[in-house]
Amino acid sequence: MRLYDGQMHSATSTGVSEAQQIIDLEREFLVQNYARYALVLERGEGCYVYDVEGNRYLDFIAGIGVNALGHAHPRIVKVIREQAELLIHSSNLYYHRYQGALAKRLAEVSGLNRSFFANSGTEAMEGALKMVRAHANKISPEKIEVVSVDNSFHGRTLGALSITGQPKYRRDFEPLIPGIRFVPQNDIAALERAANERTAGIVIEWIQGEGGIFPISSEYGRKARELADRYDALLVFDEIQCGVGRPGTWFGYQLADPVVLPDVMVAAKPLACGLPLGVIVANEKAAAAISTGMHGSTFGGSALACRVALEFFDILEGLLPSIRRVGDYFRSRLEELARRYGFIREVRARGLMVGVDMSVPGKQMVAEAQARGLLINCTHDTVLRFLPPYIIAEKEVDEAIYILDGIFAAQPSQ
Ligand SMILES: *Cc1c(COP(=O)(O)O)cnc(C)c1O
Repeated sequence: MRLYDGQMHSATSTGVSEAQQIIDLEREFLVQNYARYALVLERGEGCYVYDVEGNRYLDFIAGIGVNALGHAHPRIVKVIREQAELLIHSSNLYYHRYQGALAKRLAEVSGLNRSFFANSGTEAMEGALKMVRAHANKISPEKIEVVSVDNSFHGRTLGALSITGQPKYRRDFEPLIPGIRFVPQNDIAALERAANERTAGIVIEWIQGEGGIFPISSEYGRKARELADRYDALLVFDEIQCGVGRPGTWFGYQLADPVVLPDVMVAAKPLACGLPLGVIVANEKAAAAISTGMHGSTFGGSALACRVALEFFDILEGLLPSIRRVGDYFRSRLEELARRYGFIREVRARGLMVGVDMSVPGKQMVAEAQARGLLINCTHDTVLRFLPPYIIAEKEVDEAIYILDGIFAAQPSQ
């Protein structure tokens, strides 16, 4: 394995490497909204990805929690091949075999009965907000408030952005939709104060992802359920990052005992193992707010994406115990590091959704990890975030821990 040193090599006849040409092309022709790492990926296999120069990286971010079965999983590749030859997309003018079948599976594992398929997280959240509005509109035109949590992340479209509890994302686009009340996470009294007859919806991530891996307490979830019932508001759980197997249960809200069931749940990231697919899963009451013609999507729920998701669900069923086992092992190995390195404040983990909260910035560590062959991510400046594929075993954890140990040992504060 060659180590990546932050520079792209293998000069071509023009004297500029292919990777550098790819990067330069983007600099010239793309909206400059992303701060990408200088790494041009070409292919992946299992838990590893390779760049255009053949360097190998252990992938512990998995396309931000999307590549749930890693890369080029044989069963996923097989169904994509088969389905691509049959039917990729048909629009929602017609039926195909896989939407109903996937919706049935989602009902079985979520406890909610009716699905609507979209293409991304934010689009699913947008539809859920329309459901909240439509439900509340039938009760009173004044019922337009949505309670959301500080530090949350719900997506980039204007509706989802409006309920995202991080001003840095909202600032440039105001005014956004009115009537949003932000409350501190896990502050039950604040939640109680924010809810009233005008509340149309309460939106919560069971585990904040972008915000730095912060789970809510079961009591907080139960209180949200109680308040939604009291005021006939819809309780919406954003499971886009923490759902579909990552916490070692099908969904984050199933970590609570007893389970706190929302009225509406949105999922996306890992749902179709890398193909774009988002979903709203709602109970009968919430689903009844949307009648024919009120909502739709051209691409949503394609035959290809739904078939892949069905295949994924079959595999995931058997993977949940190993997600819990390997997740616990990863957490305990990180806690060992936390005992040795004073700048690690806390390790927060639920299954394979893992954060290391530090008193020092993480950005440079992410670059160093990349140079040593490990892909990770940093959120909120000081939280290293790990969203590895569900197929990792203890061996991959050991490899990641070895690299992290080396990086931590080289910190100036040591
Ligand atoms: C990623 C994410 C979204 C947005 O999903 P996109 O597919 O990027 O639109 C919304 N909510 C949460 C919790 C997320 O992690």
